Amino acid sequence: MINLKNVSKTFGKQHALDNISLQFPKNKTSVIVGPSGSGKSTLLRSLNLLETPETGEYEFNDEKIDFSKKLSSKTILNIRRKTSMVFQSFNLFPHLTVLKNVMEGQVQVLNKSKEEAKEVAEKLLDKVGMLDKADSYPSQLSGGQAQRVAIARSLAMHPEYILLDEPTSALDPEIELEVLKVLLDLAKEKQSLVIVTHNLTFAQRVADKIVFIEDGKVGFDGDTKDFFESDDQRIKDFLAAMT
Ligand code: ATP
Ligand code: MG
Repeated sequence: MINLKNVSKTFGKQHALDNISLQFPKNKTSVIVGPSGSGKSTLLRSLNLLETPETGEYEFNDEKIDFSKKLSSKTILNIRRKTSMVFQSFNLFPHLTVLKNVMEGQVQVLNKSKEEAKEVAEKLLDKVGMLDKADSYPSQLSGGQAQRVAIARSLAMHPEYILLDEPTSALDPEIELEVLKVLLDLAKEKQSLVIVTHNLTFAQRVADKIVFIEDGKVGFDGDTKDFFESDDQRIKDFLAAMT
């Protein structure tokens, strides 16, 4: 379980996160939605300490972090290992093959043998439908293929949570579906996911819970069905604007 209590983050005068209290349950898919500039990426990045809010508390299982105190590099490393971020623009290592991309962290960070890492990498590439491209380089892949490799690379690190920031927004709609299918499979397998997306059809299908962020504040936090059937005028306006 990830638990945020009264978390705030400013950029100059901009309140990117304004007193956010939220939970991201384990083995569930939490989807964060909201208008552009509302603080979604800042919130997601705070979950793996790529951003450090100025105030508030962060709990990861039994580990408690007080954002008003300086974080130790040990704490940061520990949280980063438990939460893996998949970026919009894939961030694969360009000089390594697809297979090596998925092996690299296992060997360097988890200290696995090359043989073991290769076996895991092949299994995960198969899972995301990319085993036939194991020897290709990232530049030879479509965006959807690259994103599926990025997801396999995340999975290889056995994070407790996978965090995805608009994982398909750089993709054409027909390619987007390949990636969404992989995420739906992960959700079914009860991988803990936190996904920021503009794709409300996908959100409705995959989410166990919806977090609606507006001006850095939590505008809704609850059941997916309740969100899409909400009587709240601000939510209705948001949903109308997005469809
Ligand atoms: P989008 O849907 O467009 O990706 P978002 O909801 O992810 O938007 P954030 O990127 O979290 O929004 O940004 C929230 C607010 O914080 C915005 O006003 C943004 O301009 C500001 N902000 C984010 N990162 C920085 C930064 N590094 N420096 C200054 N301001 C920032
Ligand atoms: Mg964003």
